[in-house]
Amino acid sequence: MKEKEQKPTTNDAGIPVSSDEFSLTVGPDGPILLHDHYLIEQMANFNREMIPDRQPHAKGSGAFGQFEVTGDVSAYTRAALFQPGVKTDVLARFSTVAGESGSPDTWRDVRGFALKFYTTEGNYDMVGNNTPVFFVRDPMKFQDFIHSQKRRADSGLRDNDMQWDFWTLSPESAHQVTILMSDRGIPGSYRHMNGYTSHTYMWVNAEGERFWVKYHFKTDQGIEFLTQEEGDRIAGEDADYHRRDLFEAIKRKDYPSWTLKVQIMPFEEARTYRFNPFDLTKVWPHGDYPTQEVGRLTLNRNPSDFHAEIEQAAFEPNNLVPGIGPSPDKMLLARLVSYADAHRARLGVNYKQIPVNSPKSPVNSYSKGGAMRIDNVSDPVYKPNSKGGPKAAPERYPEDAIWSASGDFIRAAYTRREDDDDFVQPRALIREVMDDDQRGRLVSNVVGHLSSGVTEPVLKRAFEYWHNIDQDIGDRIEKGVREG
Ligand code: NDP
Repeated sequence: MKEKEQKPTTNDAGIPVSSDEFSLTVGPDGPILLHDHYLIEQMANFNREMIPDRQPHAKGSGAFGQFEVTGDVSAYTRAALFQPGVKTDVLARFSTVAGESGSPDTWRDVRGFALKFYTTEGNYDMVGNNTPVFFVRDPMKFQDFIHSQKRRADSGLRDNDMQWDFWTLSPESAHQVTILMSDRGIPGSYRHMNGYTSHTYMWVNAEGERFWVKYHFKTDQGIEFLTQEEGDRIAGEDADYHRRDLFEAIKRKDYPSWTLKVQIMPFEEARTYRFNPFDLTKVWPHGDYPTQEVGRLTLNRNPSDFHAEIEQAAFEPNNLVPGIGPSPDKMLLARLVSYADAHRARLGVNYKQIPVNSPKSPVNSYSKGGAMRIDNVSDPVYKPNSKGGPKAAPERYPEDAIWSASGDFIRAAYTRREDDDDFVQPRALIREVMDDDQRGRLVSNVVGHLSSGVTEPVLKRAFEYWHNIDQDIGDRIEKGVREG
C-alpha cells in the first residue's frame, strides 16, 4: 500500500524548511548561527503562544451547534432568530468563575453559560450562568466580589475568610450563596446543568410593543451534581473532568441539548411588581410568571483549534439584535460596557475580526485601523457622507429606548418595595424546593467551607447570615462548626 504523502514543513511564510530536527551550526559541534531565522521564529512564537486569562471565567470549554425555534413567541419579539422554525448557528462556552485556566473543573463555583448566536441581523450574545441570580445587584461591588473569591495579596492563596467576610457584609448575596452551597454548586457535568440569563431583557414585537423577559435553558440531560467529596476527589484525579466530558460526548455523537423557556412580564407591570423585577439577586416566581417554550439548543461540533475558537471567543452582553434590548438592571447596564472593554484589553481592538467572533451577516461599520486589522476598509471613512456610505436606519433598531427615568444624580440602592427582602427567596429555596437530603448536604457543604480558615468576627456574622435565611439551618450550621 502506498504511504500517505506527507506535506513538507514550511515556516510561517510558507517557505519549505530544511530540517525538523537540527539547528544551523558551525560544524556538528559548533555554536548556533544567528541567521537561523527558522529556529528564531519557533522560539519567538513559542514565547508568545499564551494570551492573558479571562478575568474571571478563565477555565472553560466550548462547542458549536444550532438553536432551533420550536415554539411561537412572535407575539413578544420580532428578533429574527426567535421566529417560528428558524435555525441559527451557535457557539457555547461553559466555565468556572474564580479558578485560573488550569484549575480543576470540579471546584465549588458558579458556572458560566455563554452563547453566541450567529443571526441574520448580527451576533446575539447571551452571557449567563448556571444560576438564575447573582451575588450583588450594583456593579460598584462586582470587582471587590471577584477579588474576594480569588487570591490574597500576601500568600497568593484563596481564602474562605475573605469570601465570607464579603458575603456577610453583603446580605444581597444570600440567595446566590445558598445556591452555590447547594447541589447546584458542583454540576455533574456541563451537560447536566441549566443556563439562565439571570438578567431581565426587553423583547419588542413587530408592532413595537415591549415586554420584559428572562431566559431559562433547561438541560435535556437532567440535572446532575457531584457531592463535595466527589468533587474534591475528581479535582485531584482529573482537573479537566468537565472539559473532557463535553468533548467526548460530542465526539461520540451524544449531542447535549437544552430547551429554552422564557418568563414574560408585561411592560407596565415592572413599575408595580412587589419587588424590583430588575434586581439581579431575585428570580421571578414561576407561580407569577410561568415559563413558555421557545426552542432547543443542540451542541454537535467540537472545536478543532481550542485556542483559536474557544480561548479567543469573545462574548459580550451588549451584542443585542433587533427585537431584543437591555433592561434597567444596573448590573447588566455595567456589563454592556465592561465585556467589550475586557476583550479589547485581552485580544486587541479588532477582536471581532477573529473568525469565531465574526458575524455571518454583513458588517457595514465605520471602524478602521488598529492592531491586527484583517478586513480591508474602504472609502468613505466618515459619517454622515454624501458618497454612498452606510447610513443608520433608526426604524430597524429602536431597542435603545428601554425605560423612562428622571431624578437627581445620586448613589443609592434601588427604591425599596413591599417585598424587597434579601432572605425570602433563599428561604423559599431551602424550605419549599429542597428535600431533607438536599438540606443535609447544604448544611454539610457550608460547615465544611466555614471550618476551613474562617475566623472571628466573620464566623459570627456567617451564623447570623444563615439564621436570617432559615433559623433551623442556621442552628445546624453553627452546631456543626462549633462542635467540629
Ligand atoms: P418553583 O418550585 O416553581 O421552582 C423552583 C426551581 O428551583 C426550579 O426551577 C428548579 O429547577 C430549581 N431548583 C431546584 N433545586 C435548586 C437548587 N439547589 N438551586 C437552585 N435552583 C434549584 O418555585 P418558585 O419559582 O416559586 O421559586 C422558588 C425558589 O426556587 C426561588 O426562591 C429560587 O431560589 C429557586 N429558583 C427559582 C427559579 C425561578 O425562575 N422562579 C429558577 C431557579 C431556582 P429544576 O427545574 O432544574 O429542578
